[in-house]
Order: sequence, then C-alpha cells, then structure tokens
Amino acid sequence: MIFTISRQCPQCQRFQIVEVQLPQNISCPNCASRWGRVETLESVFEKCPVCECKQFWVQKDFNQALGCFIMLIGIVLVPLTYGLSLPVFALWDWLIYRRLPNYAVCYRCASEFRGFVIPARLKSFLHHIGLKYDRYR
Ligand SMILES: [Zn+2]
Ligand SMILES: [Zn+2]
Repeated sequence: MIFTISRQCPQCQRFQIVEVQLPQNISCPNCASRWGRVETLESVFEKCPVCECKQFWVQKDFNQALGCFIMLIGIVLVPLTYGLSLPVFALWDWLIYRRLPNYAVCYRCASEFRGFVIPARLKSFLHHIGLKYDRYR
C-alpha cells in the first residue's frame, strides 16, 4: 500500500503529491517548503499532520467524468437494446463505484490522504462544518 498526501502547496501554489514513509517530515516536492510531519498512520486522522485540524471528510476516489461517460453510453444504446442498457449500465456504474477506495480530506487545509485506513467515524462532507473552515482557504 502506498500512502500519499496531496494538496495545493501554499508556497508555490502547485498541486503536489507526497508519498509518505513513516515517520517523516513532509515537504513540497516542488519548492521544498515544509508542510508538516507524519509520526504514525493512526495519528494522521487524530490531527492533520499539516495544519493540526481534527476534522476530515471522506470521499470516493471517483472520476466523475468516467461515471458520466458510462451513463452516456448507456443512454446512447437505449434504442438498440430497448432500454435494457440503462439498468445494466447503472449497475455497472454502481459496481465500479463500490470498488473505489475512499480517501480523506482535511477540512481546514484541504490535504488529501490516500492509502490510509480511514476510521469509520469519518463521514462525507458536511456543509456546515465546511463553512467553518472557509476562511482558511
Ligand atoms: Zn511548493
Ligand atoms: Zn489539515
């Protein structure tokens, strides 16, 4: 398993991905500005290693464009398959969706955490929590 932390670097404004080996100081691969430090895998979601925020949201690592594309093919095939393509493609879409890994995002600094075991207590994005952190972005 590869653990990565990715975010838009506040220093050089580029979106960068860092592979994490533990314990490790993490810094921007582009401009070398320091982002933070990861001690253990478990501690990551107790406190964001970048900004020390304690709140994260979870999202499927899903390429929206791909999902739309699959449904589009389903719709195009409707006349040929007498409408059967829609449920079939929707099911296919759903199966792909289910197999996708989750990743977590820090509410405050928007760092993305991939490959980590995400605690069950983390939920998908909640707007009222997001609002609280808007001023940090
Ligand atoms: Zn940078
Ligand atoms: Zn953070």
